[in-house]
Amino acid sequence: MPDIKKLLIANRGEIALRIHRACHEMGIRTVAVHSTADTDAMHVRLADEAICIGPPPASESYLNVANIISAAEISGADAVHPGYGFLSENARFAEIVEAHGLLFVGPKPEHIRTMGDKVAAKRTAGALGLPLVPGSDGAIGDLAEARAIAARIGYPVIIKAASGGGGRGMKVVGDPDALETQMQQAGSEAKAAFGDATVYLEKYLGNPRHIEFQVFGDGKGQAIHLGERDCSLQRRHQKVLEEAPSSVITPEERARMGGIVARAMADMAYRGAGTIEFLWEDGDFYFIEMNTRLQVEHPVTEAITGLDLVREQIRIAEGHPLTLRQQDVEFRGHAIECRINAEDPRTFAPSPGLVTQYHAPGGMNVRVDSGLYAGYRVPPYYDSMIAKLIVYGTTRAGAIRRLRRALEEFVIEGMKTTIPLHQALIEDPDFQRGDYTIKWLEQWLAGEEEEE
Ligand code: ADP
Repeated sequence: MPDIKKLLIANRGEIALRIHRACHEMGIRTVAVHSTADTDAMHVRLADEAICIGPPPASESYLNVANIISAAEISGADAVHPGYGFLSENARFAEIVEAHGLLFVGPKPEHIRTMGDKVAAKRTAGALGLPLVPGSDGAIGDLAEARAIAARIGYPVIIKAASGGGGRGMKVVGDPDALETQMQQAGSEAKAAFGDATVYLEKYLGNPRHIEFQVFGDGKGQAIHLGERDCSLQRRHQKVLEEAPSSVITPEERARMGGIVARAMADMAYRGAGTIEFLWEDGDFYFIEMNTRLQVEHPVTEAITGLDLVREQIRIAEGHPLTLRQQDVEFRGHAIECRINAEDPRTFAPSPGLVTQYHAPGGMNVRVDSGLYAGYRVPPYYDSMIAKLIVYGTTRAGAIRRLRRALEEFVIEGMKTTIPLHQALIEDPDFQRGDYTIKWLEQWLAGEEEEE
């Protein structure tokens, strides 16, 4: 494969900027595509070329495959990086990109397709030897089958949409009486939201942590893992703060479980970056899904391994071998990422608008990934995440001290942000001990409310 000379970034915001930065460090020219709402966005300003692909709604711009492919052809790009969200896990898009003779910086389309169907993903993961959450073996046919399975695995159970994503399309069922209505609702909601009514059943774990492994494959049968991230701090199944390593995983456990996921990826001849997500309870891992793309929280892994994950993705797309062998991967120190959203920190109501003042924190081992600048207007059409703050420390306690200092320095004026939420969160003794599960943040938020 020839090396990439010009890459089209099929995304917006901080991740588009992140990809642009990796490209320029590699001597690759960049093409930004953008909606009419993003003409003034930083990634558009910094890219070597920019092409408008449609009006503000994502369905007409960032999801507009025909316009994105035309932009690639007009600009003479030889590769496309999809970022996360939008078209990043759309197998058809990956196929179309490749059919136009462009390199897709991502996995093989068939792997995107398999892992994007949660039922097929679970079956594949099981066949590859990954531990699963007990549940239905595939889609649920009818209510009688659901009853039989739920009785076998025991209540509570969770009904999930096979085509679900982004924390949506899940229903927890506490007892047999509620099963029928919840099954019907889950099916019709899944049909409405994802165009596919297929649902499956899983044991609902009471109080797990969300622990995910970063993997990389060369597409030819070599694969490595880059350790885990703990993403248990969630609100409505959406990640809020992530860290690496997890406080509950020992080096032995990391090597054991990492070995299992890397072997699974090698067996699939997986290409590029991927994340294998598990729930973890009482020392046991349960596979929930695989994301066949770069994750929002990838910088914490970069901080503790020293590897540039976007560069690695691009090199693999170019056909190069993996930069590191497993024995060369070293985990050092501790990293934490805060997702900063343009939202009210108490009600979480979106708060887009004009940035009147902006000052990003800096100093040793502080990283801010954001397209914000003073005078920029955050458009109301897209995700509310406006910045990621990532800090690194040699110890977890040191990383928390640095995070406190960096949050203090961060100035974003003109809108409400979740900076105060992170400031309060990191002072909590449970957080400081690393003692939390996926339930913790919502309970903490509810408790905060009661104290008033
Ligand atoms: P999505 O693709 O929508 O993100 P996931 O399957 O990754 O869906 O699940 C998202 C979150 O939902 C998990 O991080 C966890 O908080 C919760 N969850 C999913 N499955 C279970 C389960 N079996 N038991 C308890 N919580 C679950």
